[in-house]
Amino acid sequence: MSNDNLQSASKHVLAPLPYAENALAPVISARTISLHYGKHHKGYIDNLNKLIAGTELAELTLEKIIAATAGKADKTVIFNNAAQAWNHAFYWSSLSPMGGGEPPAVLKQKIEAVFGTMDACKKELATAATAQFGSGWAWFVLDGNKLKVLKTGNADSPLAKGIKPLLTIDVWEHAYYLDYQNRRADYVAAVLDKLINWNFVSENLV
Ligand code: MN
Repeated sequence: MSNDNLQSASKHVLAPLPYAENALAPVISARTISLHYGKHHKGYIDNLNKLIAGTELAELTLEKIIAATAGKADKTVIFNNAAQAWNHAFYWSSLSPMGGGEPPAVLKQKIEAVFGTMDACKKELATAATAQFGSGWAWFVLDGNKLKVLKTGNADSPLAKGIKPLLTIDVWEHAYYLDYQNRRADYVAAVLDKLINWNFVSENLV
């Protein structure tokens, strides 16, 4: 096998979306998904592959690249692209055309034990998503053994702090501007009501 083949075999690839580009409409339009997935997400992966080619990071998984570059001033660009590549794949799985509604019973009990009610949990997620100043992400996480809501700016990810992500909502303007313009709160409310994939949260908790 030539070197070229070895390099191409280790490149990060854009995984297929778990649904059709129009499957989340009308909450998120096919045009938004097409640009968000096909341009933004793909761009982070393409940039990452260029940045790490021929370096000691080239053979590592995304998770290991994130861990190896987090908080390092000379590795910020690589961290940003690696974290954005990971965050976006996680975001697509956090949504589902069959989403919203009630979580599976075991998860619902765990959420109610911490937040009181599902509505209180969703309200905390909505607040984190709308209060994030500028670009970033809202997260539902397992921090140690505690369920929590967090927000991060730009490319940052709970993964970089050793916290286990359970779901995320992208609140960069590119995630909602074509469909909601400045109304981020409307985008977040619709995602929480109609698209959140609670089954994915359950799978991540196991
Ligand atoms: Mn995005």
